[in-house]
Amino acid sequence: MASCEEVSHVGFHEDGLAALAWVERYLESVRERPVLARVKPGGLRAALPARAPEQAEPFADLLRDLEELVLPAVTHWQHPRFFAYFATTGSEPGILAELLTAALNNVGILWRTSPALQELEEVTTAWLADLLGLPQGWHGQLEQGASIATLAALAAAREARPGHRVVACSEHAHSSVDKACRLLGLEVRKTPADGRFRLRPDALDLDGCCAVVATVGTTSSTSVDPVPAVADACAEKGVWLHVDAAYAGSAMVCPEFRWAFDGVERADSLVVNPHKWLSTPQGCSALWTRRPDELRAAFSLVPEYLRAPDAVVSHSEYGPELGRTFRALKLWAVLRCCGRAGLQARIRESVRQAALFEQWVRDDPGWELCAPRPFSVVCFRRNGSDAANEALLGRVNATGKIFISHTRLAGRYVLRLAAGNARTTEADVRQAWDVLREAAPRV
Ligand SMILES: *Cc1c(COP(=O)(O)O)cnc(C)c1O
Repeated sequence: MASCEEVSHVGFHEDGLAALAWVERYLESVRERPVLARVKPGGLRAALPARAPEQAEPFADLLRDLEELVLPAVTHWQHPRFFAYFATTGSEPGILAELLTAALNNVGILWRTSPALQELEEVTTAWLADLLGLPQGWHGQLEQGASIATLAALAAAREARPGHRVVACSEHAHSSVDKACRLLGLEVRKTPADGRFRLRPDALDLDGCCAVVATVGTTSSTSVDPVPAVADACAEKGVWLHVDAAYAGSAMVCPEFRWAFDGVERADSLVVNPHKWLSTPQGCSALWTRRPDELRAAFSLVPEYLRAPDAVVSHSEYGPELGRTFRALKLWAVLRCCGRAGLQARIRESVRQAALFEQWVRDDPGWELCAPRPFSVVCFRRNGSDAANEALLGRVNATGKIFISHTRLAGRYVLRLAAGNARTTEADVRQAWDVLREAAPRV
């Protein structure tokens, strides 16, 4: 029996071509599949052997099982009619860069364990800052997601203001703020929002606060907190301002949306997720700070076996991870292969599609818009009760034709349609509207 290494060597080229062909076919045909997986819990587990194989199996068998067993249990985030949560896109350059990343298999423990990993991260976060109109010279790093980036920022804030253990944010802040505070032993103080779901600065109580989290593009309604007023309050009290622009930050690549970044230049830290609306595959969240020393003070811990004479501070000293992965490669691929123009076109098309859908809802008396729409998410509901809207959501998602999600705004159950996938066409959005109207109860 050939060893695993030998098998992979002999078949690598052929298996690689087969995998690439599979990816191509998948992306071409994904729109024919039901968006939401139609399996029962435990279904995939039951279909797979209880133990790993004793002897090596051909890669082709894995591809077959991926197609036959795994795919039915996949919810298709690459589907053009995935309109739930925040629609994302793993673009072709990003997908190929993931292959290259795995080939290099770099581990960014220290600068010397992969100078390229660290320096490409510095370059791509500086490029991205420039594309989004952010100030020059901020320290940038890439984390797995906004949850980790916010955790890191709040750890720095806690370090910067000893004895202050409260984090203030809007009632619409993302749950990652609550989770970070739980991990850091901090208390969350929820501040009420106004009628347009924006944090009310007049209601902000900074007593005992080490940080305020302002959100540009909240998760429920994509509302934009008044960052300039929050920044004033933070500056007066010496409180760290973290801006969470995980979703909407990508839109700043277009000048017409920059109003939403007003005041962000005064933040102590900022997170934007290229893996949400900037065509980068999952696992790429940009964290910038103008106070990197505080981040380093919170995280630097260099054991003897990692001491090196290099005159460079490693990114692992600025965040929770030691072995950091080469996330910059996929961002580099996306920024180069899309260009500013390509990224702008993508954002503008999502927003155009959302505006169309919003107009259809507005024009139909059987439906109601439930929040302003600054970007590519429409919050709406059918006339009738919360229960009727919840049942409607269940029916439309069961069709497999679209996948949308919900939230609660001003106490009411609200449906959310998030445009943002690069493969979505106007016809797909039209189909979503048709599916919703067909499934709606007559009023
Ligand atoms: C999506 C989102 C997050 C969480 O992002 P992850 O990368 O999944 O951790 C945090 N904040 C906001 C505003 C978001 O939209």
